[in-house]
Amino acid sequence: MSRAALQQHLDHLAEQGRHVDLWLRDDDAVRPTPALEQLLGLAARHEVPLTLAVIPEETGEDLAERLTAERRVDVAVHGWSHRSYSTPPAKKQELGRDRPLDVVLDELSAGFRKLHALHGAGFVPMLVPPWNRIAPQIVAALPGLGFRLLSVFGRETPAALPLLNTHLDIMDWHGIHGGRPADSLHAELLEHLRAEPRLAAIGVLTHHLVHDATAWAFLEELLALTARHPACRWRRARDLVPGLAI
Ligand SMILES: [Zn+2]
Repeated sequence: MSRAALQQHLDHLAEQGRHVDLWLRDDDAVRPTPALEQLLGLAARHEVPLTLAVIPEETGEDLAERLTAERRVDVAVHGWSHRSYSTPPAKKQELGRDRPLDVVLDELSAGFRKLHALHGAGFVPMLVPPWNRIAPQIVAALPGLGFRLLSVFGRETPAALPLLNTHLDIMDWHGIHGGRPADSLHAELLEHLRAEPRLAAIGVLTHHLVHDATAWAFLEELLALTARHPACRWRRARDLVPGLAI
């Protein structure tokens, strides 16, 4: 039912000559894996661009070599180590105030430089904080490290640098730790399409390493529905934010 309502809404937008911008962010890549191949294959089949949030500490040449031929894949900085330094029961956080600010900033700077060197033209100066959490004092320092864009989860808010967020998370992190039911995802996407004020671009968030069959099936269905729909434009992060390519 929700899928039909979503399709109807998109058809209606197209009839009015309107469109919506979408972008796809996938987190936690470190090296080539069968799951990454599945993601890259799916995106390529539908000609949908993709931003991979790569964890810098352990990544290396093998991922960079694999992505060389992928013309539609951007690489963003996903923290440094993806380790949490918060004290339970506080929520997991790498980029909080649990450590001295200069230690955190040195790691982020190292991550920026490492991924830029590895990925060259595929690199975008975007920070994706692990668990989508970052302390305001760290955000304020990001432009000084070379970052030009921040991406977390939820509606964008004013910050020291532009935000390009994700809004639709296909995973159920609290319940089954698998993909969320397609019906509720379609309904939520429809809500984002109808939201006022409008979202500049709707970000879809995926985590290829932990996708189950439900998650893969939803992503396949979403791209099949939207990739060639006249009301949908899947965009690269670098094209949504002027001056992002470095
Ligand atoms: Zn992550």
